[in-house]
Parts: sequence; structure tokens; C-alpha cells
Amino acid sequence: MEDCIFCKIVAGKIPSKKIYEDEHVFAFHDINPVAPVHFMIIPKKHVDSLAHVTDKDAPVLGHILAIAGRLASDQGSPEGFRTIVNTGRIGRQDVYHLHVHVIGGPNPLPRMIAKE
Ligand code: 5GP
Ligand code: ZN
Repeated sequence: MEDCIFCKIVAGKIPSKKIYEDEHVFAFHDINPVAPVHFMIIPKKHVDSLAHVTDKDAPVLGHILAIAGRLASDQGSPEGFRTIVNTGRIGRQDVYHLHVHVIGGPNPLPRMIAKE
């Protein structure tokens, strides 16, 4: 999709630190990491958000979750990690190309979400 930064990353038009790619997905380091390990796995096909998926997207979503653990381990988070899918205005999504954040490192992360 035009004007989508993650589509441009998939196409190589914007540089990224790629960690994995196959026919259906692309994984790359977050430009602004919040933990020692922080990368994103995205479908190559543009989907706006988790609120926009249909059953047709289920295989690629399953594939993303199926590879997350191996990639997290490869990146230095072998004892677990956190996946986050920010969705829409309420979920504070900034980039409207569906992405699964994978966050971890050698030490336990802060607990989930701080109460405001
Ligand atoms: P969201 O808030 O939509 O879940 O997260 C978007 C993420 O994309 C943010 O963590 C942000 O740091 C990351 N990001 C935004 N632009 C770029 C970019 O051009 N390259 C990379 N590698 N990450 C980006
Ligand atoms: Zn896109």
C-alpha cells in the first residue's frame, strides 16, 4: 500500500534491520526499542490492524505466533518474551500496518500495563 512505512520496509524502499523473512512475513528490529530485545513481525500483505482481519488472515497470524518463540530465542530472549498488538485509537496504534511486537531480553520485563 502506498504511503505505508511498513509496506515500504517490506519492499526495501526504507531500510530496516531485518531479522527474518519468508514468503508471508517479515521481521525487523523496532527503531525505538523499549527492551534489549524488541522486534516486530508483520504480514507482507498490508492489513491495517487486528481490527481489520478476517478468517482469510488466520494462517498468516498463526504463522507469526508460531515463529515468534524461535526468533525471540535467536535474538537473545530464550526464557520467554511478551507479544503486543496495539490496535486502533484505544490500543494506541501508531503504524497502521498490522504488527506483532516481540519484546524481551535476559531479565524479566515490567508487569503488564501501569494503571493510570
Ligand atoms: P505501534 O505503536 O503502532 O504498535 O508501534 C509502531 C512501532 O513502529 C513503534 O514501536 C516504532 O518505534 C516503530 N517504528 C516506527 N517507524 C519505524 C521505522 O521506520 N522503522 C522501524 N524499524 N520501526 C519503526
Ligand atoms: Zn502496509
